Amino acid sequence: MEQEFYKTSPELITTHYGEEYERYYNAIIPPIYMNSLNIFPNIDAYFDADKFDKHTYIYGRVQNPTVRILEEKVAALEHGCAAYAFASGMAAATTAVQSTVTAGGNIVCVRNAYGPLANYISTHCPETMGTTVTWVIGDTVEEFKEAITGKTQLVILESPASVTFTLQDISAVCELAHAVGAKVYIDNTFCTPLYQNPLDLGADIVMHTASKYMGGHSDVIGGFLAVKDPEFAHYVADKRELLGGIIGPMEAWLIIRGLRTLTVRVPAHAEAALKVAKFLENHPKVRKVNYPALESFPQHELYKKQMRGCTGLLSFEIEGTKEQAKQIVNSLKVFKIGVSWGGFESLACMPMLRMTDEKAAWVGGDQNTIRLHIGLEGVDALIADLDDALANI
Ligand SMILES: *Cc1c(COP(=O)(O)O)cnc(C)c1O
Repeated sequence: MEQEFYKTSPELITTHYGEEYERYYNAIIPPIYMNSLNIFPNIDAYFDADKFDKHTYIYGRVQNPTVRILEEKVAALEHGCAAYAFASGMAAATTAVQSTVTAGGNIVCVRNAYGPLANYISTHCPETMGTTVTWVIGDTVEEFKEAITGKTQLVILESPASVTFTLQDISAVCELAHAVGAKVYIDNTFCTPLYQNPLDLGADIVMHTASKYMGGHSDVIGGFLAVKDPEFAHYVADKRELLGGIIGPMEAWLIIRGLRTLTVRVPAHAEAALKVAKFLENHPKVRKVNYPALESFPQHELYKKQMRGCTGLLSFEIEGTKEQAKQIVNSLKVFKIGVSWGGFESLACMPMLRMTDEKAAWVGGDQNTIRLHIGLEGVDALIADLDDALANI
């Protein structure tokens, strides 16, 4: 009864759900089970062990009690039947592809999907499995209608995509994919489970990197797959075991700790980001701000339909040259320069700077695009920092 109760809100899930205090001396924090194997009273018990049973553990590459607590929380947050934790977001993503695509199959993928995943399906998969990719911009359902065929096994979405912030109509795409028996994968890292639950909209696999908001403190790398079909869940678990991508117990513990404050941190990032987005939108030197919560965002209606909020990541383009955009980034003081996001710190980056013009246009962006992660340093300091940097050009 208690566990069912703790499942009823994100706050209860992140604080108490999935934890069995009485199993570890009523410690309020679960231990880091730093063991590689578990032992058995006799050899038959060893062979009869059910690796899917919540209280049965065999070997650390299969499952670990600290990891399982984390996974139960993520499954509950995403309204899935199960979630699996991986050593990185990419380990989760590649395991998802290997769980859904067979030799010669077709993948439909949005052009602005996470770069390394796009790279994986356009180089490694064709080379080793003879798969093909059909790329879509993804902002219209029509495009998916044309791209999805009888050969399509997997549709890869990222909504919003983390550089251009364009959205895909998740439920409409799921309907099209399911009509041909394809599965839908979506990277939900930007939204976190607080602001979008794609399994409820029809998606089959939700991927998160824990390295961003779920961990939340820029001190851990990890990833998740959450799924809603129990049979497929076991299939994914078997693939993880084969491919060996399970997260370590120490990392799982850090993410459990990070998740405790997810429901406090994410709204704080979001509130500050909206203020920054509005400041930028009204700045004469800024041409365009990409942030779905802005009423001026071209897909704002779709944002309201499938998302419950927008987090702390946004991008903008200045009215000016590439050199001037670089100058802005270089003169920021509170914002640090670096890749990644989702931690306490504000960051600036130019993800498309070194792309060719053609590649940047193909992805749907611009070399000048400046991406900001709005951290927890206080929005006034962040706006003042941007104001100073923009005054320099
Ligand atoms: C960082 C990131 C990933 C990859 O996660 P890793 O943990 O670095 O492997 C995937 N998708 C998005 C949107 C990301 O920002």
